[in-house]
Amino acid sequence: MYSVTSASITETGKVREINEDAVLETGSLFAVADGMGGHQAGEVASTLALSVIRQYVEDNLGAISGEQLVGKAVSGANAVVHQKAVSGAKFRDMGTTVTLLYREGDTAYIGHVGDSRAYLLRNGGLRQLTNDHSLVARLVQEGEITPQEARSHPQRNVILKALGLETQLEADVVSVKIHRGDVFLLATDGLTSLVGDDVISRVLAEFPGPVDAAGRLVELALEAGGIDNVSVVIVSFAESPTVVPATGTEGGDLGGGQQERAGGDPARGRGKAARIWLILLVVLLVLALAGLGVGLYFFNNTYFVGVKGGKVALFKGFPFWDMAMVETQTDIEIRFLPDSLRTRVEENLVTESRRNAEKTIESLALEVEKNSSIVPDVEGKRYDEAAEMLLEAGLHPVAELVSRPGFEPDVVLIQDPAPGARVGKGSDVLLKVVMGGTPAREV
Ligand code: CA
Repeated sequence: MYSVTSASITETGKVREINEDAVLETGSLFAVADGMGGHQAGEVASTLALSVIRQYVEDNLGAISGEQLVGKAVSGANAVVHQKAVSGAKFRDMGTTVTLLYREGDTAYIGHVGDSRAYLLRNGGLRQLTNDHSLVARLVQEGEITPQEARSHPQRNVILKALGLETQLEADVVSVKIHRGDVFLLATDGLTSLVGDDVISRVLAEFPGPVDAAGRLVELALEAGGIDNVSVVIVSFAESPTVVPATGTEGGDLGGGQQERAGGDPARGRGKAARIWLILLVVLLVLALAGLGVGLYFFNNTYFVGVKGGKVALFKGFPFWDMAMVETQTDIEIRFLPDSLRTRVEENLVTESRRNAEKTIESLALEVEKNSSIVPDVEGKRYDEAAEMLLEAGLHPVAELVSRPGFEPDVVLIQDPAPGARVGKGSDVLLKVVMGGTPAREV
């Protein structure tokens, strides 16, 4: 099991007036898109594509998995963008590239259309995971030109496949088993046409944090001219001791199939009518028991993800009439989920299998991790150090000076919330700081 850290940047660059790129960064879904088409239509295409993809993945979390989910999300987004493109002259011929990473368990699914790229840095070596759907890439493949010639080829911007241009589209989808220490990079050609693979590889290796690495890559693209919009998303996987435990056992002992034999020999009837009634009764009883068996079977094989006590739980049974039991109670607080996801969990998210329910819970845990922080313990530390620790955790330190004669000045006496609490990203943390000495500063 791995923890995920990520960062994303999208920049207009030094030459273009608008940014037609878009990026997406959630707990388990990451993407870049490079839009095209005049009069800001490119901007519409890239933004629309990513929002449809995000919605599709959220709506189908747990219902279908991995490769299928990514493929369908991209073709669904294609249909929506194409629809928009043919809706009016303003949007004619608009389209967009999309390169995305969807993480499910220990597998990364890469979906791809166009000439944006996905790379993987593993053990110091950089590998391109996608093939450019561009004219020059095809010419290189066919041996017509060299990769060096491709970089300055007059038709290097010609794309052979993009989202939104045709009614139907099939994305390239590849899966990669995640290893500890893997760093994935998604980037538009505003980076890759200006910054070579060797430099990208060096930056990813030298800057361990995704935020710094992303910043450095964009900086290099700008230094090299910044002639295009430039977007990068970096996702890195480190081993994590703090993830929701996936309950390992496979569920589903089949409770069904109670085949009660209709009992004994029918008592000697007192006439024909009585016997018919008895037979009817027996038939009804058998049907009822069979129905019960079928019901029991489904009860034992239906799983859904819902809420108990404000936290995500895995239920077995039917999501209505209180006909369900909690199988696993997690620590995942739904208040830290994005609105649309929270609503879906509150309404109970029925999954195809227990395994899918567990994967869904894992994705929810990642979303919560992304949107919240654990308050670090800063009591007893000097204010400067405390403030830095809080900022690093994505929190906002608020100092309040208190007079405590005899105490060392500038030291944090009390913090609120207490250490270890989980709070939303950007929340205030009140620090009562001893007055005197060097004055404490508001940040
Ligand atoms: Ca571009």
